[in-house]
Order: sequence, then structure tokens, then C-alpha cells
Amino acid sequence: MQIRTRLTLLFIAIVALTILASSVFIYAFSSTYRSTEFYERLANKAHSMAKLFIDVDEVDANLLRIIENTAPSTLPEEHIYIFNSKGESIYKSINDDLIEISDNLKKKLFFEGEIKVTKDIYEIYGLRYETNGQPYLVFAAATDRFGYSKLKNLRNILVINYAVVLVIIAIGGWIFSSKALSPITGIIQKVENITETSLNLRLDEGKGQDEIEKLALTFNRMLERLELAFIMQKNFVANASHELRTPLTAMTGQLEVVLLKEREKEDYMRTIQSVLDDIRNLNIICNRLLLLAQTNTDRKDFNFVSVRVDDLLWQVQSDIRKFNPTYTVHVNFKSLPENENDFVVEGNPHLLKTALTNFAENGCKFSKNRSVDVELDFDEKNILVSFLDQGIGIRKEDFKMIFQPFYRSKDAISIPGHGLGLPLIEKIIKIHGGEISLDSVPNEYTHFKVRIPKNQV
Ligand code: ADP
Repeated sequence: MQIRTRLTLLFIAIVALTILASSVFIYAFSSTYRSTEFYERLANKAHSMAKLFIDVDEVDANLLRIIENTAPSTLPEEHIYIFNSKGESIYKSINDDLIEISDNLKKKLFFEGEIKVTKDIYEIYGLRYETNGQPYLVFAAATDRFGYSKLKNLRNILVINYAVVLVIIAIGGWIFSSKALSPITGIIQKVENITETSLNLRLDEGKGQDEIEKLALTFNRMLERLELAFIMQKNFVANASHELRTPLTAMTGQLEVVLLKEREKEDYMRTIQSVLDDIRNLNIICNRLLLLAQTNTDRKDFNFVSVRVDDLLWQVQSDIRKFNPTYTVHVNFKSLPENENDFVVEGNPHLLKTALTNFAENGCKFSKNRSVDVELDFDEKNILVSFLDQGIGIRKEDFKMIFQPFYRSKDAISIPGHGLGLPLIEKIIKIHGGEISLDSVPNEYTHFKVRIPKNQV
């Protein structure tokens, strides 16, 4: 069911119930009021008739009938019955046997002193009237024709009012809900036009104050993120193919040149060595790209075990020394642990080692003395590792950019690299629930600090 229909129905239901409840209340209240008022009139009649007939000696039954029929206060279809203490009729209105006053009713009145009953179209008021210690039973009965007719009119008015108001509410509700929802309809139409080729389109945010404007605002923020991700994805693919094509073109060129004519053995050896270097380079790029793609997935996909970060750093130090004898990694402990678990984190050893190696290699690669100072520290909840080198440094404006795939600062262009190390490191640290901070002054130093929580939630 459409929200518009649902809103209208809800609106109708609320108003219908409210009007129904108030109409029933008005009708019930008027009905009670009519009955009370009519019994009051019957009671007055019974009192005055009893007083006249019993207390005034000059008034006999005939005179009372004349008075009863001519009095201006005579009620419609009025009947008066008076009985003595034995229950014998001593007065009744002319031609009157229409209402049968049973012995039970008389007995009831005798004991209760006052009764109010209805019989067919009549309302009957009973009064035990006492004078000189002698009890009499007086019954006044009549039909409240005007009262019932007024009540009927009131009921008709309430029913018609109910029907008319419902129709007005249904039409008004429908118009109101379509008005209220028209901005959403606008959003739907606009969103339908947004495709992968028009991610630059935005919704009208107005002043961003009501819920719909806030929705448009949130949607626009999401579009911005999507557009950025889309552009980054495109750039990534373009950069990746460029990075892969460069060594391939170089290899093809070298092999084509060497095949142009017969060469000396040394020439072949030199070319093969150079092609081998390019293949190794290609291999590094492919491995990093693969790892970068894998670390896009959830941390659940990686096997997390207890890892001693100090052990990892010793391995990193010896691996770097083995593959790059010109590089030096100094490992220092800021404070010595009392417990061997102080350096333990829950993580993936392969990924963590890759991240630490990249940091250390960068420190050596970008510094004049080809060395990096690694400092290991811990607190109750975290392991803290920092990498400090005295090298080319990083400009403030590049702080964010260097974590983008393939980005290399201007100062680093002359130094070999692919711009894939830091994006990979950032993802690995994120998977481990940690964070990276950076402090650097160009041509002075670069200081990366990493915090890895011991237990990630
Ligand atoms: P690569 O080292 O292959 O260039 P990275 O992703 O590891 O790729 O680094 C990206 C860029 O960040 C580098 O090109 C360089 O500009 C900058 N950078 C990273 N580490 C350092 C460092 N220790 N000192 C100076 N610049 C650095």
C-alpha cells in the first residue's frame, strides 16, 4: 500500500473514531438529560395531584379530572393513578385502563417510597404520599413525545454530520498527504535519473531543516562518497594498468633491440639481467595490488592469532638486512615489559609484518643515511610502534594524499617506488582496529606513529 493511501486511511480512522466517540457522548448525555428532566416533571405532577386530591377536601375525583385535563402543565398522554394503603384505586384519569399498575409495582413503591419505570411508550413515576400517618400510592405516567422527537433530530444531525465530516476528511486527507509527500515524489524522480554516468547530479537540499531536506542532504553526502569512490576506482584501474604496462614495454623494447642482430654473450647476459629486474619489479607490483584487493575485505576473512610485535620487528630487521644490505633498522624499546604478553596483539602475522616492513623500508629508502629508528612501546590496551628517519620529509599538503594508491610526492619521484605501500599499510592497520599518525618536516625528518589495540572488539 502506498504511504499516501496509508496516511489518508490513518487520518480518516483517527478523525472517524474521535467524531464517533464525541457523537455517542453527546447523544448519551442528551438522552440522560431528557429522562431526568421528564421524571422531574412527572414527580411535580404526582406531588401536586396528590396534594390536591388527598389534602384538599373540596377537590373530588371529577374536579381533579377537570383540573388535570385543563392545567397548562398537562403532559402528553398523561395518566394519574392514586391508590389507598390497601392498594385500592381511589383516583384515575378519565377512560383510563391503558396502563396496568400491577400489585408488584404497588408493593415496590410502598417499600421504596419512590420509583421510576418505563412501560411501552410510557414513563411512570411512583410516589408514596403520606398525610396524617396515612400512606397513599400515586403514579404519574406520560409519554415524552417532544423529548424523544428532539432526541431523534439530534441523532439525525449527528449521523449526517458524521458522514459529511468523513467525506471532507477523506478528500482533505488525500490532498494533504499528497502535498506532504510531494517532495518525496520529487526526490524519487530525481534519483531515478542518477546513473553511474551522472553521479554528479545532486538533490535539492533546501535549507536542510525538515526531515525531507535532511534526507536529501544525507543522500547528497552519500552521492559525494560514491562519486569519489567511483573516480578513485577509475584512477586506480588507470594507474594500475600504467604501472604494469611500463615494465612490460621496457622488457619488450630491450628484447626487440637485442634481437635486431647477433650479440656478444655479455650483451645477452646484461639484457636478461635487466629483464629479470623488470620482472621482479612487476612481481612486486602484482603482489601489492593483490594484497590491496584482499585487504578490502572484512577482517573476519583473515586468520587472527596472538602475535608478538617485538618478534615481528626482529624478523623485519633481519629480512631488510638480508635483501638490502645498505639499509639499517635500529629497534629500540621505550620501556621494557614485565610480562611477555605486553607486546602481544590479536592479528594476522603476515599482514602485520608486511605493514611494518613497508614502514621500515620507506624510512631507509627516503633517508640520506639509509636508516630508520623503530621504537616499540605499549600501554594497558595498545602497542605503539614509531618509525623515525632523517630524510626528504613529507609536505603537509601531502599528508593525506600519500595514502592514496599510486600517489607519490614530487620529492620522491627520483626514488624508485610505486605508491602502493602506504595505502596497503593503512588498510592493514584499519583491519587491526588501529590508527596511524604522521609528523614530518621536509628535508629534516619523518615520524610515523602506529597504534594497534591489543584486543579488538
Ligand atoms: P613508494 O614508497 O613506493 O613511493 P608508498 O605508498 O610507500 O609508496 O609511499 C607513498 C609516498 O609517500 C612516497 O612516494 C613518498 O612520497 C611518501 N613517503 C612515504 N614514506 C616516506 C618517508 N619515510 N619519508 C618521506 N616520504 C615518504
